[in-house]
Amino acid sequence: MQFHLDGFHPGDPRYSDPQDRVVPPPLKRPLPQQVDVMIVGCGPAGLNLAAQLSQFGSISTCIVDQKDDRLLVGQADGIACRTMEMFQAYEFADQIQQEAYWVNETAFWKPDAEHPGQISRSSKIQDVEDDLSEFPHVIINQARVHDHFLEVMRQSPGKVEPHYSRRLVDLQVDTEAEDYPVTLTFERAVNYSQYGKEQEIVKARYVVGCDGARSSVRTLIGRELVGDSINQAWGVMDVLAVTDFPDIRLKAAIHSNNEGNMLIIPREGGYMVRLYIELDKLKQDERISRDEITADYLISAANRIMQPYTVEVKEVAWWSVYEIGQRLTTAFDDSEEGRLPRVFLAGDACHTHSPKAGQGLNTSVNDTWNLGWKLAHVLTGRANPELLSTYSAERQHVAQMLINFDREFSTMFSAKPKSADNPDGVDPAEFQKYFVRFGRYTAGTSIRYNPSSLVGSGEHQSLATGQTTGMRFHSAPAVRLADARPVQLGHCVKADARWHIFAFAGQQPPMSDQCRVRALCDFLQNEHNSPLKRFTPAGADVDSVIDLHAMFQQYHRDIDVDQIHPLLQPLKGRYGLRDYEKVFCTDHSGAGDFYALRGIDREQGCLIIVRPDQYIAEILPLDDYAGLSRFFEGVLTRP
Ligand code: FAD
Repeated sequence: MQFHLDGFHPGDPRYSDPQDRVVPPPLKRPLPQQVDVMIVGCGPAGLNLAAQLSQFGSISTCIVDQKDDRLLVGQADGIACRTMEMFQAYEFADQIQQEAYWVNETAFWKPDAEHPGQISRSSKIQDVEDDLSEFPHVIINQARVHDHFLEVMRQSPGKVEPHYSRRLVDLQVDTEAEDYPVTLTFERAVNYSQYGKEQEIVKARYVVGCDGARSSVRTLIGRELVGDSINQAWGVMDVLAVTDFPDIRLKAAIHSNNEGNMLIIPREGGYMVRLYIELDKLKQDERISRDEITADYLISAANRIMQPYTVEVKEVAWWSVYEIGQRLTTAFDDSEEGRLPRVFLAGDACHTHSPKAGQGLNTSVNDTWNLGWKLAHVLTGRANPELLSTYSAERQHVAQMLINFDREFSTMFSAKPKSADNPDGVDPAEFQKYFVRFGRYTAGTSIRYNPSSLVGSGEHQSLATGQTTGMRFHSAPAVRLADARPVQLGHCVKADARWHIFAFAGQQPPMSDQCRVRALCDFLQNEHNSPLKRFTPAGADVDSVIDLHAMFQQYHRDIDVDQIHPLLQPLKGRYGLRDYEKVFCTDHSGAGDFYALRGIDREQGCLIIVRPDQYIAEILPLDDYAGLSRFFEGVLTRP
């Protein structure tokens, strides 16, 4: 898709008239007096959580922001492959893919050996390694990601819409109260003349502070961001420009000899580009105080860094000075010894770091992706509140890794290039190697949760060597049996807080007496300790809590749907219609054999339990019924 040719306009570029691109803000209405979950902050962390909770009509969710409307321009723009996988669970990854820029290659530029005052390209590399994810690494305005979450929220059973112009000013937790223990006080953030300093009080069962780096929720629960006190300042601008720089449509890291460093991020629509200029690294006599920085100042700095090339800016769509330190909060919730959490922190409210590796938005949405299904479980009675303690345990570890990575990456990025004059500098080739080595990390696919009640020990890891316990379920091609449709198996997992059991059959004829998938289905359908029987509420569809899928190695035309176990084609819904979308075969057309790609034991098969957030909870032999029951007993409660 090409757009922004005649100027930048925010909103959905599929509308030809720019006036139609932006949805008007929702009508202002009073805040509810009581809610299950109060989310403070309509950034990506808050909106993702609201989108998840909105899937449940029975959960009352309220989301507020001090701003008077949705974000239209600026802030983050890098979407990691792993985040795209999460967007797929909401079914808007395809639209993002169409609209976004795809980062397929990265170019590295360094001072030219013969003319050190000028830059020359040192290399180009593939940005994302093959088969790391079925999705690319993309670049799109953060505001468009917000738009998609807002649409999901509006369309879902919970029908959640933000309340804008509300600023949180106080939060109290009554540790004795059983119900609605948190009291929040909000002030109208604008229109004082109309409303005065009107305050609204809301009582909530749970509160999630997604209110950014200067989080009031964090302060009000007495948590602190600790870490580096020295902030790094970056000038960032989204521009429509004409340039002779040859890699303007590639992500490019530029290290100049004396003029500083710059990162070029091509943007969606084919014409726009983002320039990140590291302000601390500009020549001493070129630096001015933050308040005096202008867009023209940044344009001049860019032109000095990229000599002999020039950039002529025609329009500045957005610019800012983004100043940030590497910091982390001591805990991601308000729990204390003997008291379970009621207030949580997510996103920039609990971790901040440089924008260089593009992790801000990605880590933030993945925080609430971890928390959302857990809140939904507790509020719908599927799990005990103890489940909520796993949020801080799992995500704080991830954030600590991010801070460590960012510190190292930033130091390397910011160091002067090694040269005869500067022998202690960083060799650009070393920086490039580091970039490649941490590619999986920046793609978000290397996150691994430690063993806990939600993650098994990995004892049976050898049954699926390409699917790691504690890491995200790595999708690969499959063919759906009933309609012969090529699909990605991982796309069975939607943002609906359901658990998944993927049963990978061995080589026995499907559903024969020797077939262990058939035996597993018999167990799940009939035995008293079957987790499906124990945890599915009476009258609910059989897959409403745990969704079972099977995969066979045979060519799909060699299996008839009438051979399939009834549990894999359950009758559902008001009319008892049959669900034909749970059985898959390996692809025999060349797209890729799931068993080979993901190291599934062809003889024995296996079963993989996948959490609602797409992470692998456990890998078990197909006939380990006791292990399967034990796992779910440790997480779910009986209805
Ligand atoms: P945020 O996106 O910060 O959202 C927090 C929300 O909470 C805001 O909408 C705020 O209005 C609201 N809020 C705060 N306090 C209150 C209160 N008391 N009451 C009610 N509402 C409140 N990342 C990059 O990678 N590159 C960039 O160039 C870049 N530029 C940025 C520029 C700015 C100005 C900001 C704020 C962030 C930028 N980021 C950038 C960071 C990136 O946007 C964040 O990492 C990401 O948005 C974090 O998401 P979040 O939901 O945790 O918080």
